[in-house]
Amino acid sequence: MVKPPVVDPGRAPELPAVPEDRMVGALAAAIAVPTVSIPSGGDPAAFTQLRTVLAERFPLVHRELALELVSEHAMLFHWRAPAPTWAPMILAAHVDVVPVEPGTEESWTQPPFAGNVADGHVWGRGALDDKLGVIGVLSAVESLLAAGFVPTRDVWIAFGHDEEVGGKEGAAKIAARLQELGVHAEFLLDEGGAVVHGMLPGIDRPVALVGIAEKGVATLELEVAGEGGHSSMPPRRSAIGRLGRALERLESHPMPSVLGGPTAMMLERLTPELDYGPRLVLANMWMFGPLVRTAFAQRPPSDAVIRTTTAVTMFDAGIAHNVLAARAKAVVNFRILPGDTVETVQAHVRGVVDDPGIAVRCTEDCWDPSPTSRTDVPAFTTLERAIVQVWPEAIVSPSLVVGATDARHYAGVADDVYRFLPIPMRDEDRARLHGTDERIAVADLASAVRFYQTLLALGAS
Ligand SMILES: [Zn+2]
Repeated sequence: MVKPPVVDPGRAPELPAVPEDRMVGALAAAIAVPTVSIPSGGDPAAFTQLRTVLAERFPLVHRELALELVSEHAMLFHWRAPAPTWAPMILAAHVDVVPVEPGTEESWTQPPFAGNVADGHVWGRGALDDKLGVIGVLSAVESLLAAGFVPTRDVWIAFGHDEEVGGKEGAAKIAARLQELGVHAEFLLDEGGAVVHGMLPGIDRPVALVGIAEKGVATLELEVAGEGGHSSMPPRRSAIGRLGRALERLESHPMPSVLGGPTAMMLERLTPELDYGPRLVLANMWMFGPLVRTAFAQRPPSDAVIRTTTAVTMFDAGIAHNVLAARAKAVVNFRILPGDTVETVQAHVRGVVDDPGIAVRCTEDCWDPSPTSRTDVPAFTTLERAIVQVWPEAIVSPSLVVGATDARHYAGVADDVYRFLPIPMRDEDRARLHGTDERIAVADLASAVRFYQTLLALGAS
């Protein structure tokens, strides 16, 4: 069976050792500060406190790099190269976390905001999303500074403080600030993909998914006005029934599936890795395309990478059991595939609903998919090499990120934007993100730090 060579990792850079207790201690201390996004009920004082913790844990970073606060709590570090030979790189992450769902605190093995280290893991909210990114980047830079590393390009480190609620005050304002400063990076790295195990049946190697684009969002409000009045003499069609029909039609007429863009590139990358049968299918998409799309459509995670998805998320109507609702309102959340736009989604909705009595409005959560970043550029090769230096058996593949990240705000300040969090991700880990028992293995934290060290060493020396 033909197996593709993994990317040539090049020569391993010499990297300073980072004492395990130091990185574990820093991550644990960061988790112990509950920086829940402020609009989700978080306390602004926690963000101030986290900055104190970071300053204590990373003294060299705070001495050698310039730090500017944006929107009060977002952090922008500048590591200046004395004689830059390349355009800057930007490393992004976010310091805010999602709250713990009320009522689930008791089901945590370790309390979510204690920062406990137990059973070889650092436990707590943010252990993966995304204090790992924050501590990973800072640990790498701290160690390189201690070893006397001098970057050959400016490195900007951008930590938003409201990623979990849209990034409008954090990442968006940092991007505006960078633009104001005239900074334009060769590439930016933010969270997004991960090193995924058990990606497809038949692929036994881990696959490092690097998001080269992310889906857009169209959160649409549908509203219909009814007659109101007493339910003893109802019209044939109520406001609720009319809106219900519209929603039923939207669910049974999803937007068409397309195997293109980052998803097609991912399949291309993985095809040589497969057994003969599936390889034959994927290598002959001109013939088997419809078959593959049907297979992808069977499961929500794969369906999400081949189409703009439709999710009815809210419904609001009626005040009493015997009163006709004078209005009914629903919210439908679309995640837009590159190629579609907010506009094409709205046109699809109007066409499918086919009812002029139903008003369709875009809420403020509407934006087009991100541009798709390139993979045939030196920045991607650098990233690829850094990944295989740390996970030599990994296949690095471009991919589409289906969720929204801060990265989309930075499209204007970097030639290419990549989304990759250097952690292994198995099925059971996925539920911990935003869920109960978020944690990271100490060994995985060490790999993450090594990845950021490697990326800096390969990309800025
Ligand atoms: Zn995140």
